[in-house]
Amino acid sequence: MTTTVNKHESSSSSLALVHVDVDQPQPLSVAPIVSSYNEKIRPVLDALENLRRLNIAKEGIQLPTIVVVGDQSSGKSSVLESLAGISLPRGQGICTRVPLVMRLQNHPLPQPELVLEYNGNRVTTDEENVSDAINNATEELAGTAKGISNNPLTLIVKKNGVPDLTMVDLPGITRVPVHGQPDNIYDQIKDIIMEYITPEESIILNVLSASVDFTTCESIRMSQSVDKTGLRTLAVVTKADKSPEGLLEKVTADDVNIGLGYVCVRNRIGEETYEEARNEEQNLFEFHSLLSKIDKSIVGIPVLAQKLVHVQAMSISKTLPEIIKKINEKLANSLHELEILPANLSSLADAMSAFLQIISLSRDSLRKILFIGEFEEYPEEKQMHCTARLVDMLNSYASELNNCAESNATKDFLMEEINVLEEAKFIGLPNFMPRTAFQTLLQRKVRGISHMPIDFVDSVWDYLQNVVTTVLNRHSANYYQLQVSIRRAAGHLIAKKKKNCIQHVLQAVEMEKLTDYTCNPEYLEEYNKIVSHQVAFLNEVSNVKRLTSTVNLEGYGPIEVAQLKNYPHQVLTQAYDLKARLIAYWKIVLRRLVDVIALHLMLSINELVNVDFQKELCNGLLSSAGGGVERLLEESPSISGKREKLSRSVKVLKESKETVANIMDRIGVYGDN
Ligand code: GDP
Ligand code: MG
Repeated sequence: MTTTVNKHESSSSSLALVHVDVDQPQPLSVAPIVSSYNEKIRPVLDALENLRRLNIAKEGIQLPTIVVVGDQSSGKSSVLESLAGISLPRGQGICTRVPLVMRLQNHPLPQPELVLEYNGNRVTTDEENVSDAINNATEELAGTAKGISNNPLTLIVKKNGVPDLTMVDLPGITRVPVHGQPDNIYDQIKDIIMEYITPEESIILNVLSASVDFTTCESIRMSQSVDKTGLRTLAVVTKADKSPEGLLEKVTADDVNIGLGYVCVRNRIGEETYEEARNEEQNLFEFHSLLSKIDKSIVGIPVLAQKLVHVQAMSISKTLPEIIKKINEKLANSLHELEILPANLSSLADAMSAFLQIISLSRDSLRKILFIGEFEEYPEEKQMHCTARLVDMLNSYASELNNCAESNATKDFLMEEINVLEEAKFIGLPNFMPRTAFQTLLQRKVRGISHMPIDFVDSVWDYLQNVVTTVLNRHSANYYQLQVSIRRAAGHLIAKKKKNCIQHVLQAVEMEKLTDYTCNPEYLEEYNKIVSHQVAFLNEVSNVKRLTSTVNLEGYGPIEVAQLKNYPHQVLTQAYDLKARLIAYWKIVLRRLVDVIALHLMLSINELVNVDFQKELCNGLLSSAGGGVERLLEESPSISGKREKLSRSVKVLKESKETVANIMDRIGVYGDN
């Protein structure tokens, strides 16, 4: 970078740095620190300014910022003051207590324009009063004591001849709390500083007093911790006038790894005017025996201004593509979130058609998963593959029936039959099977298993409840208002269906208890098969010698018979006959309890989907408990809040995108610089 000091102009104004456009006459009294970049940088800065004003940081997008850090009283505020040509609060003790964002804008105004913005306030002020205004605002943000706050204050300075720069002045680092400061003041300040200098987009302007050893500077340590290479750190050495000794060596040695280089300055002292201060500075570096040896390209506020403008431009052009990318990402994100937000229904017609749409979509889904076996809407969710899951449930119910104690044909073989026959004795011919014996045994068995079909339909309807809820949620996800009443109605409906189904099961069980009948020829086949082994079996039983022994019954395996030995043959014959009937008939009963319930279940589900579903949901919606159709028009506060926030964010991001797009063409200009 070359800076051409225009000797001719500097004779009338000591600070003219580079060529000032002759077509735009400048007021003579003002000393401009304009840079050749200004014309190009301006639109970019304006764009950045726009982004900042849109509060794009809230969207998580960091903008390139020059952050001024330094130990307390190192001269940070003085440097800003020099750059802006205005008076800021300064002095001993802690003066800068909140982050001060200073936006300098070169404007050909006859009078400078100063505006303070903080906490939503906007205060217009002038050079004379800006110091007080800042102090007042600081007190409002950080209290009247000596505490600090992270709530920033923005000072916009529109003035002729200032460099186009945006910088943040931060509270100085202090180790020892002064009277009235909280004990953790160091940590508080450190946190604020770290927050500002950590983002890669930040340029760190490290203000160092010439009087100190740079290697011991706290601010150097902090900036090194986030900018190891130093490539985004620029050092300003203040108070060159106070400690000129060894300054040249210090900045040449660069013991502290400052990537962007050093600039030595002398700020305004005491009641000097701004012009006087610049004159003094120029003289100092021109004529001082030690300071004059320092290269002119690294001394003086004008050089600092020039450097900062350049660094800022580089940084912006480097970060803009990334910013654009981030804006696009965030925008896409917000738009998507907005899209999936429950739709806002604004008219009754909208609400009704949304409602009917949900019903019709849900019904189609239910048909597919419950009857047809098409699962494309739930490819991975096995629970929603209902046709298959219903078979699973039915199978496990059937196997439970077949494996329960009541279905065990061989345990305590004939004992129960013998006991029941004993109590069913009647005066009559001996070779008639007492019907009551059979019925007693049958009823006992049916009672024993009666909970199983009930449990089965119970669990099937619980399962269906989940399925229906899942389907409804899927199709009503965008309508918060509808979901509540729809889900309630569906709950009612399922409960009703379940009750109805259990009623049917109870009836089926009762029927089995009441009548023993089947036209199924398998009954007789099975009975005859068992009876055909009767003679052989009973013969073996009577031949058994030992106390415990087993006899093989064909088709049923070894059977424990020791206890049967004591009964007369005629009793055993009758018991065996009774057992044969029971075994053969029980198979029929169990199969009937599976078949009948399965068929009824399918009928119920069919009615549910094709008839009851729509009816019940409409009833639910229109009933007073459902709140009527009008309720659909209400939006939950949390959702409308979220919608508002997202809409705002989308608006900001869209505007930001436009802003950035408008200046993108110009970016290439700096990329090469
Ligand atoms: P800050 O705490 O880092 O903001 O430091 P200030 O800007 O408030 O400056 C602290 C003190 O150092 C003030 O009294 C300034 O006048 C003084 N000061 C700042 N820069 C210079 C300088 O270049 N030369 C001299 N002699 N004093 C300076
Ligand atoms: Mg300060």
